[in-house]
Amino acid sequence: MHPAGQSKRSGRVIVVGAGIGGLAAALHLSARGLDVTVLEASGGSGGKLQAQQLGPVAIDSGPTVFTMRWVFDELAALAGQPLDAALGLVPLPVLARHHWPDGSRFDLHADHARAVDAIGHLAGAAEARRYGAFCERARRVHDTLLHSFMTAQRPQPWSLAWRVARNGVAGLGRIAPFHSLWHELGRHFRDPRLRQLFGRYATYCGGSPLQAPATLMLVAHVEKQGVWSLPGGMHTLAAVLEAWLRARGAAVRHGTAVQAFQWHGGCVVGVVLAGGETLAADHVVFNGDAAALPAGLLGDAARTAAAPLPAHRRSLSAVTWSALVPRSTADLLRHNVYFSADSPREFRELFEQRRLPTDPTVYVCAQDRETTAPALPGHERLLCLINAPANGDEPGALSESALRACERGALSRLAEAGLPLRWNTASMRRCTPADFAHRYPGSGGAIYGRAPHGWQASFVRAAARSAVPGLSLAGGSVHPGPGVPMAALSGRLAAQRACEDLGLAMPALS
Ligand SMILES: Cc1cc2nc3c(=O)[nH]c(=O)nc-3n(C[C@H](O)[C@H](O)[C@H](O)COP(=O)(O)OP(=O)(O)OC[C@H]3O[C@@H](n4cnc5c(N)ncnc54)[C@H](O)[C@@H]3O)c2cc1C
Repeated sequence: MHPAGQSKRSGRVIVVGAGIGGLAAALHLSARGLDVTVLEASGGSGGKLQAQQLGPVAIDSGPTVFTMRWVFDELAALAGQPLDAALGLVPLPVLARHHWPDGSRFDLHADHARAVDAIGHLAGAAEARRYGAFCERARRVHDTLLHSFMTAQRPQPWSLAWRVARNGVAGLGRIAPFHSLWHELGRHFRDPRLRQLFGRYATYCGGSPLQAPATLMLVAHVEKQGVWSLPGGMHTLAAVLEAWLRARGAAVRHGTAVQAFQWHGGCVVGVVLAGGETLAADHVVFNGDAAALPAGLLGDAARTAAAPLPAHRRSLSAVTWSALVPRSTADLLRHNVYFSADSPREFRELFEQRRLPTDPTVYVCAQDRETTAPALPGHERLLCLINAPANGDEPGALSESALRACERGALSRLAEAGLPLRWNTASMRRCTPADFAHRYPGSGGAIYGRAPHGWQASFVRAAARSAVPGLSLAGGSVHPGPGVPMAALSGRLAAQRACEDLGLAMPALS
């Protein structure tokens, strides 16, 4: 008998949070025949997959780069639905357009031959050859870690070394964890622009290329395997997952915050809702930020469920501006990057001084480019984003005047590159680290959990198995890490742990 007095065979699982990790965990569990209820504090599913509504249009204001579609093909298969029919994925021929302050511009093509050619034009034939070698190295790192790390439960250094060796690969050195990404890129490329371009991959996990391990070069291979756009916006992914869940008979309750867990004999046996209602469960999956647990936000008893995350170990936050503007004459693609003049300085300001960058790199997602029809004729939807320190829970850490100065800096960077933008409070919604901290309790505004700094970071990130019985963890702050597909994989790993706890088998990823 379960400590709560119920039979475990009832198989009732509660998933706290309808972020991508929670939705994925719920789909795996309901496909296993369990009785699943998802409880989400906010008014809708998706978590960081947010759209801002500006007048008649919705602007994607969270993730915009969709990769690793095989992760979602697997979820679609669980639901018995084809992914393309549900999402209408469109492969992008150019991964992103990049601009530098010296006026140079470079399109990174998905097609390898075209990418090599373009690098040859930008930086010469020798650099193009070095790009080929870099891609091959990124592929090997990716292939080594796919089943030994990304789709596996969180390893320890020794168990990863064993898994890697079992796959016939000679040791951990192969995946380059001991040098920084910045250091290794400096060995691969002579042109500082390419170092800056591929160094940006550290920010996909919320890190600085100066401190993140070179292992993150695997992101280059992930992107080469395909970047897709979703015509309805990334936020439609959450709506689709929720619909698949409901079709399988799972319950999804929005506007339902969980304030604590129910305990029996040191084991989690349910949840207590904000209104005081209690719901019993045989297993609970928590999809909020793992840092909320040691901070006591789910009750004192849950403090030991995960290790505390000091503020200086947090990943990046962001300042975003979601805007509906007159369609620009600038030659935008869907993904556009406007680099700062000095990346090392930018990352030192973000992580060492924990302040907004003086000269930020600006990412612009032009959501009506490379699609069939604009959302509003004569206008276009833009998400502009700069990296920011995760100090959103420190009152006054980012003053309004600092935020305004940063906005002016970002806008002048764009104007210099031929993209003059103007917006006002009616045509733009801003989101700051304080807003992220408020929406994702315990995070302090960090979007990606723990910063991926140093070779040990991956081994101290929270694992699917929490430190208390009856509770699993899923989401971007949990192994294997942040990003939409990785959070979905964490949901799978949490579902695996839940099944183990309930004495059920769940097939491993092939
Ligand atoms: C601006 C931005 C840009 C990004 N760009 C990309 C990108 O281009 N590509 C990419 O792959 N990734 C990107 N990411 C990262 C990606 O969005 C996240 O890693 C991923 O969505 C995290 O999912 P999650 O499972 O951790 O859930 P989250 O999105 O963190 O959602 C957690 C949910 O749990 C709920 N919750 C928390 N506590 C409780 C509680 N006590 N009771 C009930 N509910 C609770 C919250 O309300 C929330 O809905 C971006 C993120 C942001 C913010």
